[in-house]
Amino acid sequence: MLPLAQWEELMAGGAGGTDRDDVVVIGAGQGGFQVAASLRDGGFAGRIRLIGDEPGLPYQRPPLSKAYLSGKSDRVALNLRAEAFFTQAAIEVLSGQTATEIDRAKRAVRLASGEAISYGHLVLATGARNRPLPVPGSDLAGVLQLRSAGDADLLRQHLPDISRLVIVGAGFIGLEIAATASARGIEVTVIEATSRPMSRAVSEAMSAFFRKIHEGLGARFVFNTVVTRIHGDAGRATAVETADGQRFGADLVVVGVGVLPNVELAAAAGLAIENGIVVDEHLLTTDPTISAIGDCAAFQQPFAGGLRGRVESVQNAVDQARCVAARLVGSPRPYRAVPWFWSDQGPYKLQIAGMSTPHDLSVVRGEAESGAFSVFCFRNGGLVGVESVNKPADHMVARKLITAGTPITPQEAADTAFDLKARAAEAPAP
Ligand code: FAD
Ligand code: NAP
Repeated sequence: MLPLAQWEELMAGGAGGTDRDDVVVIGAGQGGFQVAASLRDGGFAGRIRLIGDEPGLPYQRPPLSKAYLSGKSDRVALNLRAEAFFTQAAIEVLSGQTATEIDRAKRAVRLASGEAISYGHLVLATGARNRPLPVPGSDLAGVLQLRSAGDADLLRQHLPDISRLVIVGAGFIGLEIAATASARGIEVTVIEATSRPMSRAVSEAMSAFFRKIHEGLGARFVFNTVVTRIHGDAGRATAVETADGQRFGADLVVVGVGVLPNVELAAAAGLAIENGIVVDEHLLTTDPTISAIGDCAAFQQPFAGGLRGRVESVQNAVDQARCVAARLVGSPRPYRAVPWFWSDQGPYKLQIAGMSTPHDLSVVRGEAESGAFSVFCFRNGGLVGVESVNKPADHMVARKLITAGTPITPQEAADTAFDLKARAAEAPAP
């Protein structure tokens, strides 16, 4: 890191000592960690600095709404690697440091502390933040969100003391928290703007299955309405009001209404932004010395009809990080990974291969009533997504089918006697 005086010198154009082999990564989350680790795996010998505004070592978020929230795992288990890994790999983790400015001309990043670091290549892995709920009362005590380990700690502290939880948003966060809270005997109400749970991500059949599961666990859903106000008493949330005039008493409110990509640094540096930092098929931004990956990156998605968009998942962050690292060590290849996701809700593991929305036809393989089945989704006759519940074998074969573009008809997919594995094995090697 440069001290303040040297930053001034750098800005004035007199910077010496800039090692053009240095890679600097902004964002020490899932993607940022992976790009650093994959660079070393790939033999990168230059300096690697990982700037993260959160305290501590890089950690994974998925357990925050699952095992960590229910108290089944601890903080150390969240860490992506132990401290010794970073020391041995010579990856410098600058935790608790916020990057506030990118000077592209000088190839330098300024930190909130006033210090600056120069880069040969910069990777933006700044992720996303929770979308705020813009209604009166959302700033009351007892209105929480979940993105970071700190948020999860706060939620964990409250759960033992509450009997009524209102969750705003029936997306992944809302439903995973609902499952954990219901299992504790908490009365859960989930308010969702659309007509069904996880409507952005899954088919109607899958939404219907999970609706039933959550209702069976004791949760109540309120669809097709939005929250207009959170009422409070002595500064603390006590009830949630919806646009249709209903009022739901609450000891705690959790808001899970999606995320906004962290693009401000990139935008201020003049990089192209389109609901995310615009990147090409090699994940390069409009500046060839800067890449962007993970939740913050908007790319043309080969498995979503070539539409530009962001994918908010561990797989995407990890695979994009690997793609950038491979390019930086001299093996460039376009990013073409099939997206896949998972979500644990109560005893059910939902796994999604591909992008099932939008689709124009879906068929169910197996019986939803058995609690282990898959929904195969087709667009223009081609398989675009497969959603599996407690059917890991279907999920794995679906990833192969979608990766290779192996044809399969809806009739074959729905026929449990049809050998999916054998069909996938027919695909030519990638
Ligand atoms: P992040 O992991 O969010 O990392 C970005 C980091 O950059 C953050 O630490 C941020 O604070 C930091 N940062 C931002 N700006 C700056 C700056 N200016 N200076 C320094 N640091 C900065 N996905 C799945 O596939 N399956 C799951 O089951 C799943 N469960 C999830 C559960 C929860 C509760 C949450 C919140 C997410 C979950 N996800 C899941 C999504 C997944 O965790 C994200 O898609 C993934 O973390 C994205 O990685 P990323 O590196 O792009 O962003
Ligand atoms: P999400 O999946 O986008 O779901 C948010 C839901 O809330 C959407 O259905 C949204 O509808 C709805 N909504 C928006 N505004 C609302 C309002 N005012 N009132 C009621 N409902 C409203 O996002 P999320 O569940 O908040 O998750 C946040 C992030 O964490 C995402 O990146 C997600 O991928 C990640 N995450 C992933 C997993 C997983 O993969 N298992 C688990 C947890 C979290 P519209 O779509 O119409 O806006």
